[in-house]
Amino acid sequence: MNKIRTRYAPSPTGYLHIGGARTALFCYLFAKHYGGDFIFRLEDTDVERNVVDGEASQLNNLAWLGIIPDESPFKPNPKCGKYRQSEKLDVYHELVNKLVKKGLAYKAYENTEELAKQHQEQEDAKIASFRYDPTWLKISDEEKNRRDKAGEYSIRLKLPKNKVYEWEDIVRGKISVNSDDIGDFVIMKSDGYPTYNFAVVVDDHQMQISHVLRGEEHITNTPKQLAIYEAFNWTPPIFGHLTIITNMEGKKLSKRDKTMKQFIEDYKNEGYCPEAIFNFLALLGWTSADKSEMMSQEELVKKFDYTRLSKSPSKFDIVKMEWFSKQYMKQLPNNFIISKISSPKDDNWNEIFVETYKQHSSTINQIKEELKIYLYPKANLEIPFQENNVVTTFFKILRSKSFTIENIQVAIDETKNLLNVKGKDLFMPIRIATTYEEHGPELAKAIYLFGKDLVFSRLEKWS
Ligand code: GLU
Repeated sequence: MNKIRTRYAPSPTGYLHIGGARTALFCYLFAKHYGGDFIFRLEDTDVERNVVDGEASQLNNLAWLGIIPDESPFKPNPKCGKYRQSEKLDVYHELVNKLVKKGLAYKAYENTEELAKQHQEQEDAKIASFRYDPTWLKISDEEKNRRDKAGEYSIRLKLPKNKVYEWEDIVRGKISVNSDDIGDFVIMKSDGYPTYNFAVVVDDHQMQISHVLRGEEHITNTPKQLAIYEAFNWTPPIFGHLTIITNMEGKKLSKRDKTMKQFIEDYKNEGYCPEAIFNFLALLGWTSADKSEMMSQEELVKKFDYTRLSKSPSKFDIVKMEWFSKQYMKQLPNNFIISKISSPKDDNWNEIFVETYKQHSSTINQIKEELKIYLYPKANLEIPFQENNVVTTFFKILRSKSFTIENIQVAIDETKNLLNVKGKDLFMPIRIATTYEEHGPELAKAIYLFGKDLVFSRLEKWS
């Protein structure tokens, strides 16, 4: 078998989105599972839509997730040509010209208005979807020459009549489309830029891509690409089209939906664990044969089996995402988290704080936020509260001991036994009176973290 080579080829028109990240991740897992190469390249010919840091955002966020390409614009394989389409326009031109010379592609002279008119006529004739008619344009030879000289033409691929393009999609099985349902399509635009379908075929061929995994919105492009492979007499790669990602209501994720965090950058900035996102994304449209959920990158590479890619849409479940994050947060080394939260407290305090809070947090930012109640303790109790026996008894016992987590726990237990109270009746008064909060982590630890002086001064008010 030839080496497995997959690629992720974003347009740098925006930041790395969940959908793109998932495509990249599946391509990566697929390649790595078979000991192959994962390639990153750019489809940057839509110059007007490109954003300045689009490329960097894609690459940096992939790297943050742990997806490091074997080849990219910064690590090119010289045999594979350039990794940015904008840098290889000459290659596309040369190849398009070859097809024109062979009579497999031709110049089409319609300008925008004429093309719009042709569209309109077909629409008026109730033709369901547009088919280009090469005989439609009637212009004089003079005008044709003028347009030719001025470069006012696009180049279209000449499709054979009634030819079936068929492929075995690794996600969806056999798909076939008749050439008559496509019509001759543009491969080189009048502005001198190749179309996506043409450039992607040239790139995939030059880079010896063995498997193309991409979003299902590209299914309609695949027969066109097969026609281009055929025109060049090149062997096409194997295709697989991943199903869409939806929100919880089953609607396709829209980048404009601001109620959801959809960009990897957002998760990074909020201090999510990249390992958690990697794991979560891998399960958006794929399941492991042994049904496990928590899997490290190495395990995922080992277990990845493309036959288990889902045929139905996958729901982006933020609750599940949070669950994954929490599991991973618990496993993070304390000193790593400490290095991220800029706490002015001493090492021992930081260690206890982080160990306590990482058990329930999904992001580093959440832990950082929790730090505030200790750094800027509330001066007044803002919750309605009645002095009671539990608090005074607890304080009496606590006072008699040195201020350690163990002793705080002993004081809670002794209060419980002495007064015969338990559960909420025991914990709530103590929690409110000491921490000024109704909720928090393990009580003895929370009390300890506030420090003896503050806790005693708060308790003194009740005794
Ligand atoms: N730039 C295309 C996209 O982002 C790549 C399509 C492909 O993988 O062929 O959808």
